[in-house]
Amino acid sequence: MSETKMCANCGTNPVDINVFKGRRPYCAECHNTLTIAKQREYKKHCIDHMGGSCDHCGFNSCQAALNFHHVLKSENNKKVSSLYSPYPLSSKVLGELSKCVLTCTNCLYIHYRGSGKPPSELKVRCLAHLGHVCSKCSFDWRATSGGSSAMQFHHLDASMKRLNIGRAKVEHFARIVDEVDQCVLLCANCHSEEHYKTL
Ligand SMILES: [Zn+2]
Ligand SMILES: [Zn+2]
Ligand SMILES: [Zn+2]
Repeated sequence: MSETKMCANCGTNPVDINVFKGRRPYCAECHNTLTIAKQREYKKHCIDHMGGSCDHCGFNSCQAALNFHHVLKSENNKKVSSLYSPYPLSSKVLGELSKCVLTCTNCLYIHYRGSGKPPSELKVRCLAHLGHVCSKCSFDWRATSGGSSAMQFHHLDASMKRLNIGRAKVEHFARIVDEVDQCVLLCANCHSEEHYKTL
């Protein structure tokens, strides 16, 4: 009779014998945690290589809110996150990074993704309803051209989310104000930080 093999990391959960015929040394939970930790470690090395902070505003307080953005669009561009390399970074990763700028998520929206158009009337009303500034860092979208594109509505209780505020129509403001009241206003950087799991 074969013995149950225990996880090499936590020692408390059994290894799933259905995965790689039981040759993976970790339980599913530890495998996930270790994979995320490995990816984060890799991302940290990439961020360090790129100077450690947002090229536009110097933001550096949460790696979840830092992005490698390709300056020029090309079919040959690869997502840096898809090219895992243990340290030291492979030449493939370094080559990809040389085509990128390091940008925080706020700056990504403001300088690259935001269409440069002024925000919709509805979005302005919703932003005004919640006081215009990020509830965590006080970032005020009105001070930056295109700043509204970096403002997000964070549901305090995700299970209460009934509609996507960004897709609603201005005529329905009265109806969606209930939804808005369930949210706090966060800038994209603080929003990423909010959802960044501690391992
Ligand atoms: Zn385990
Ligand atoms: Zn920035
Ligand atoms: Zn913020």
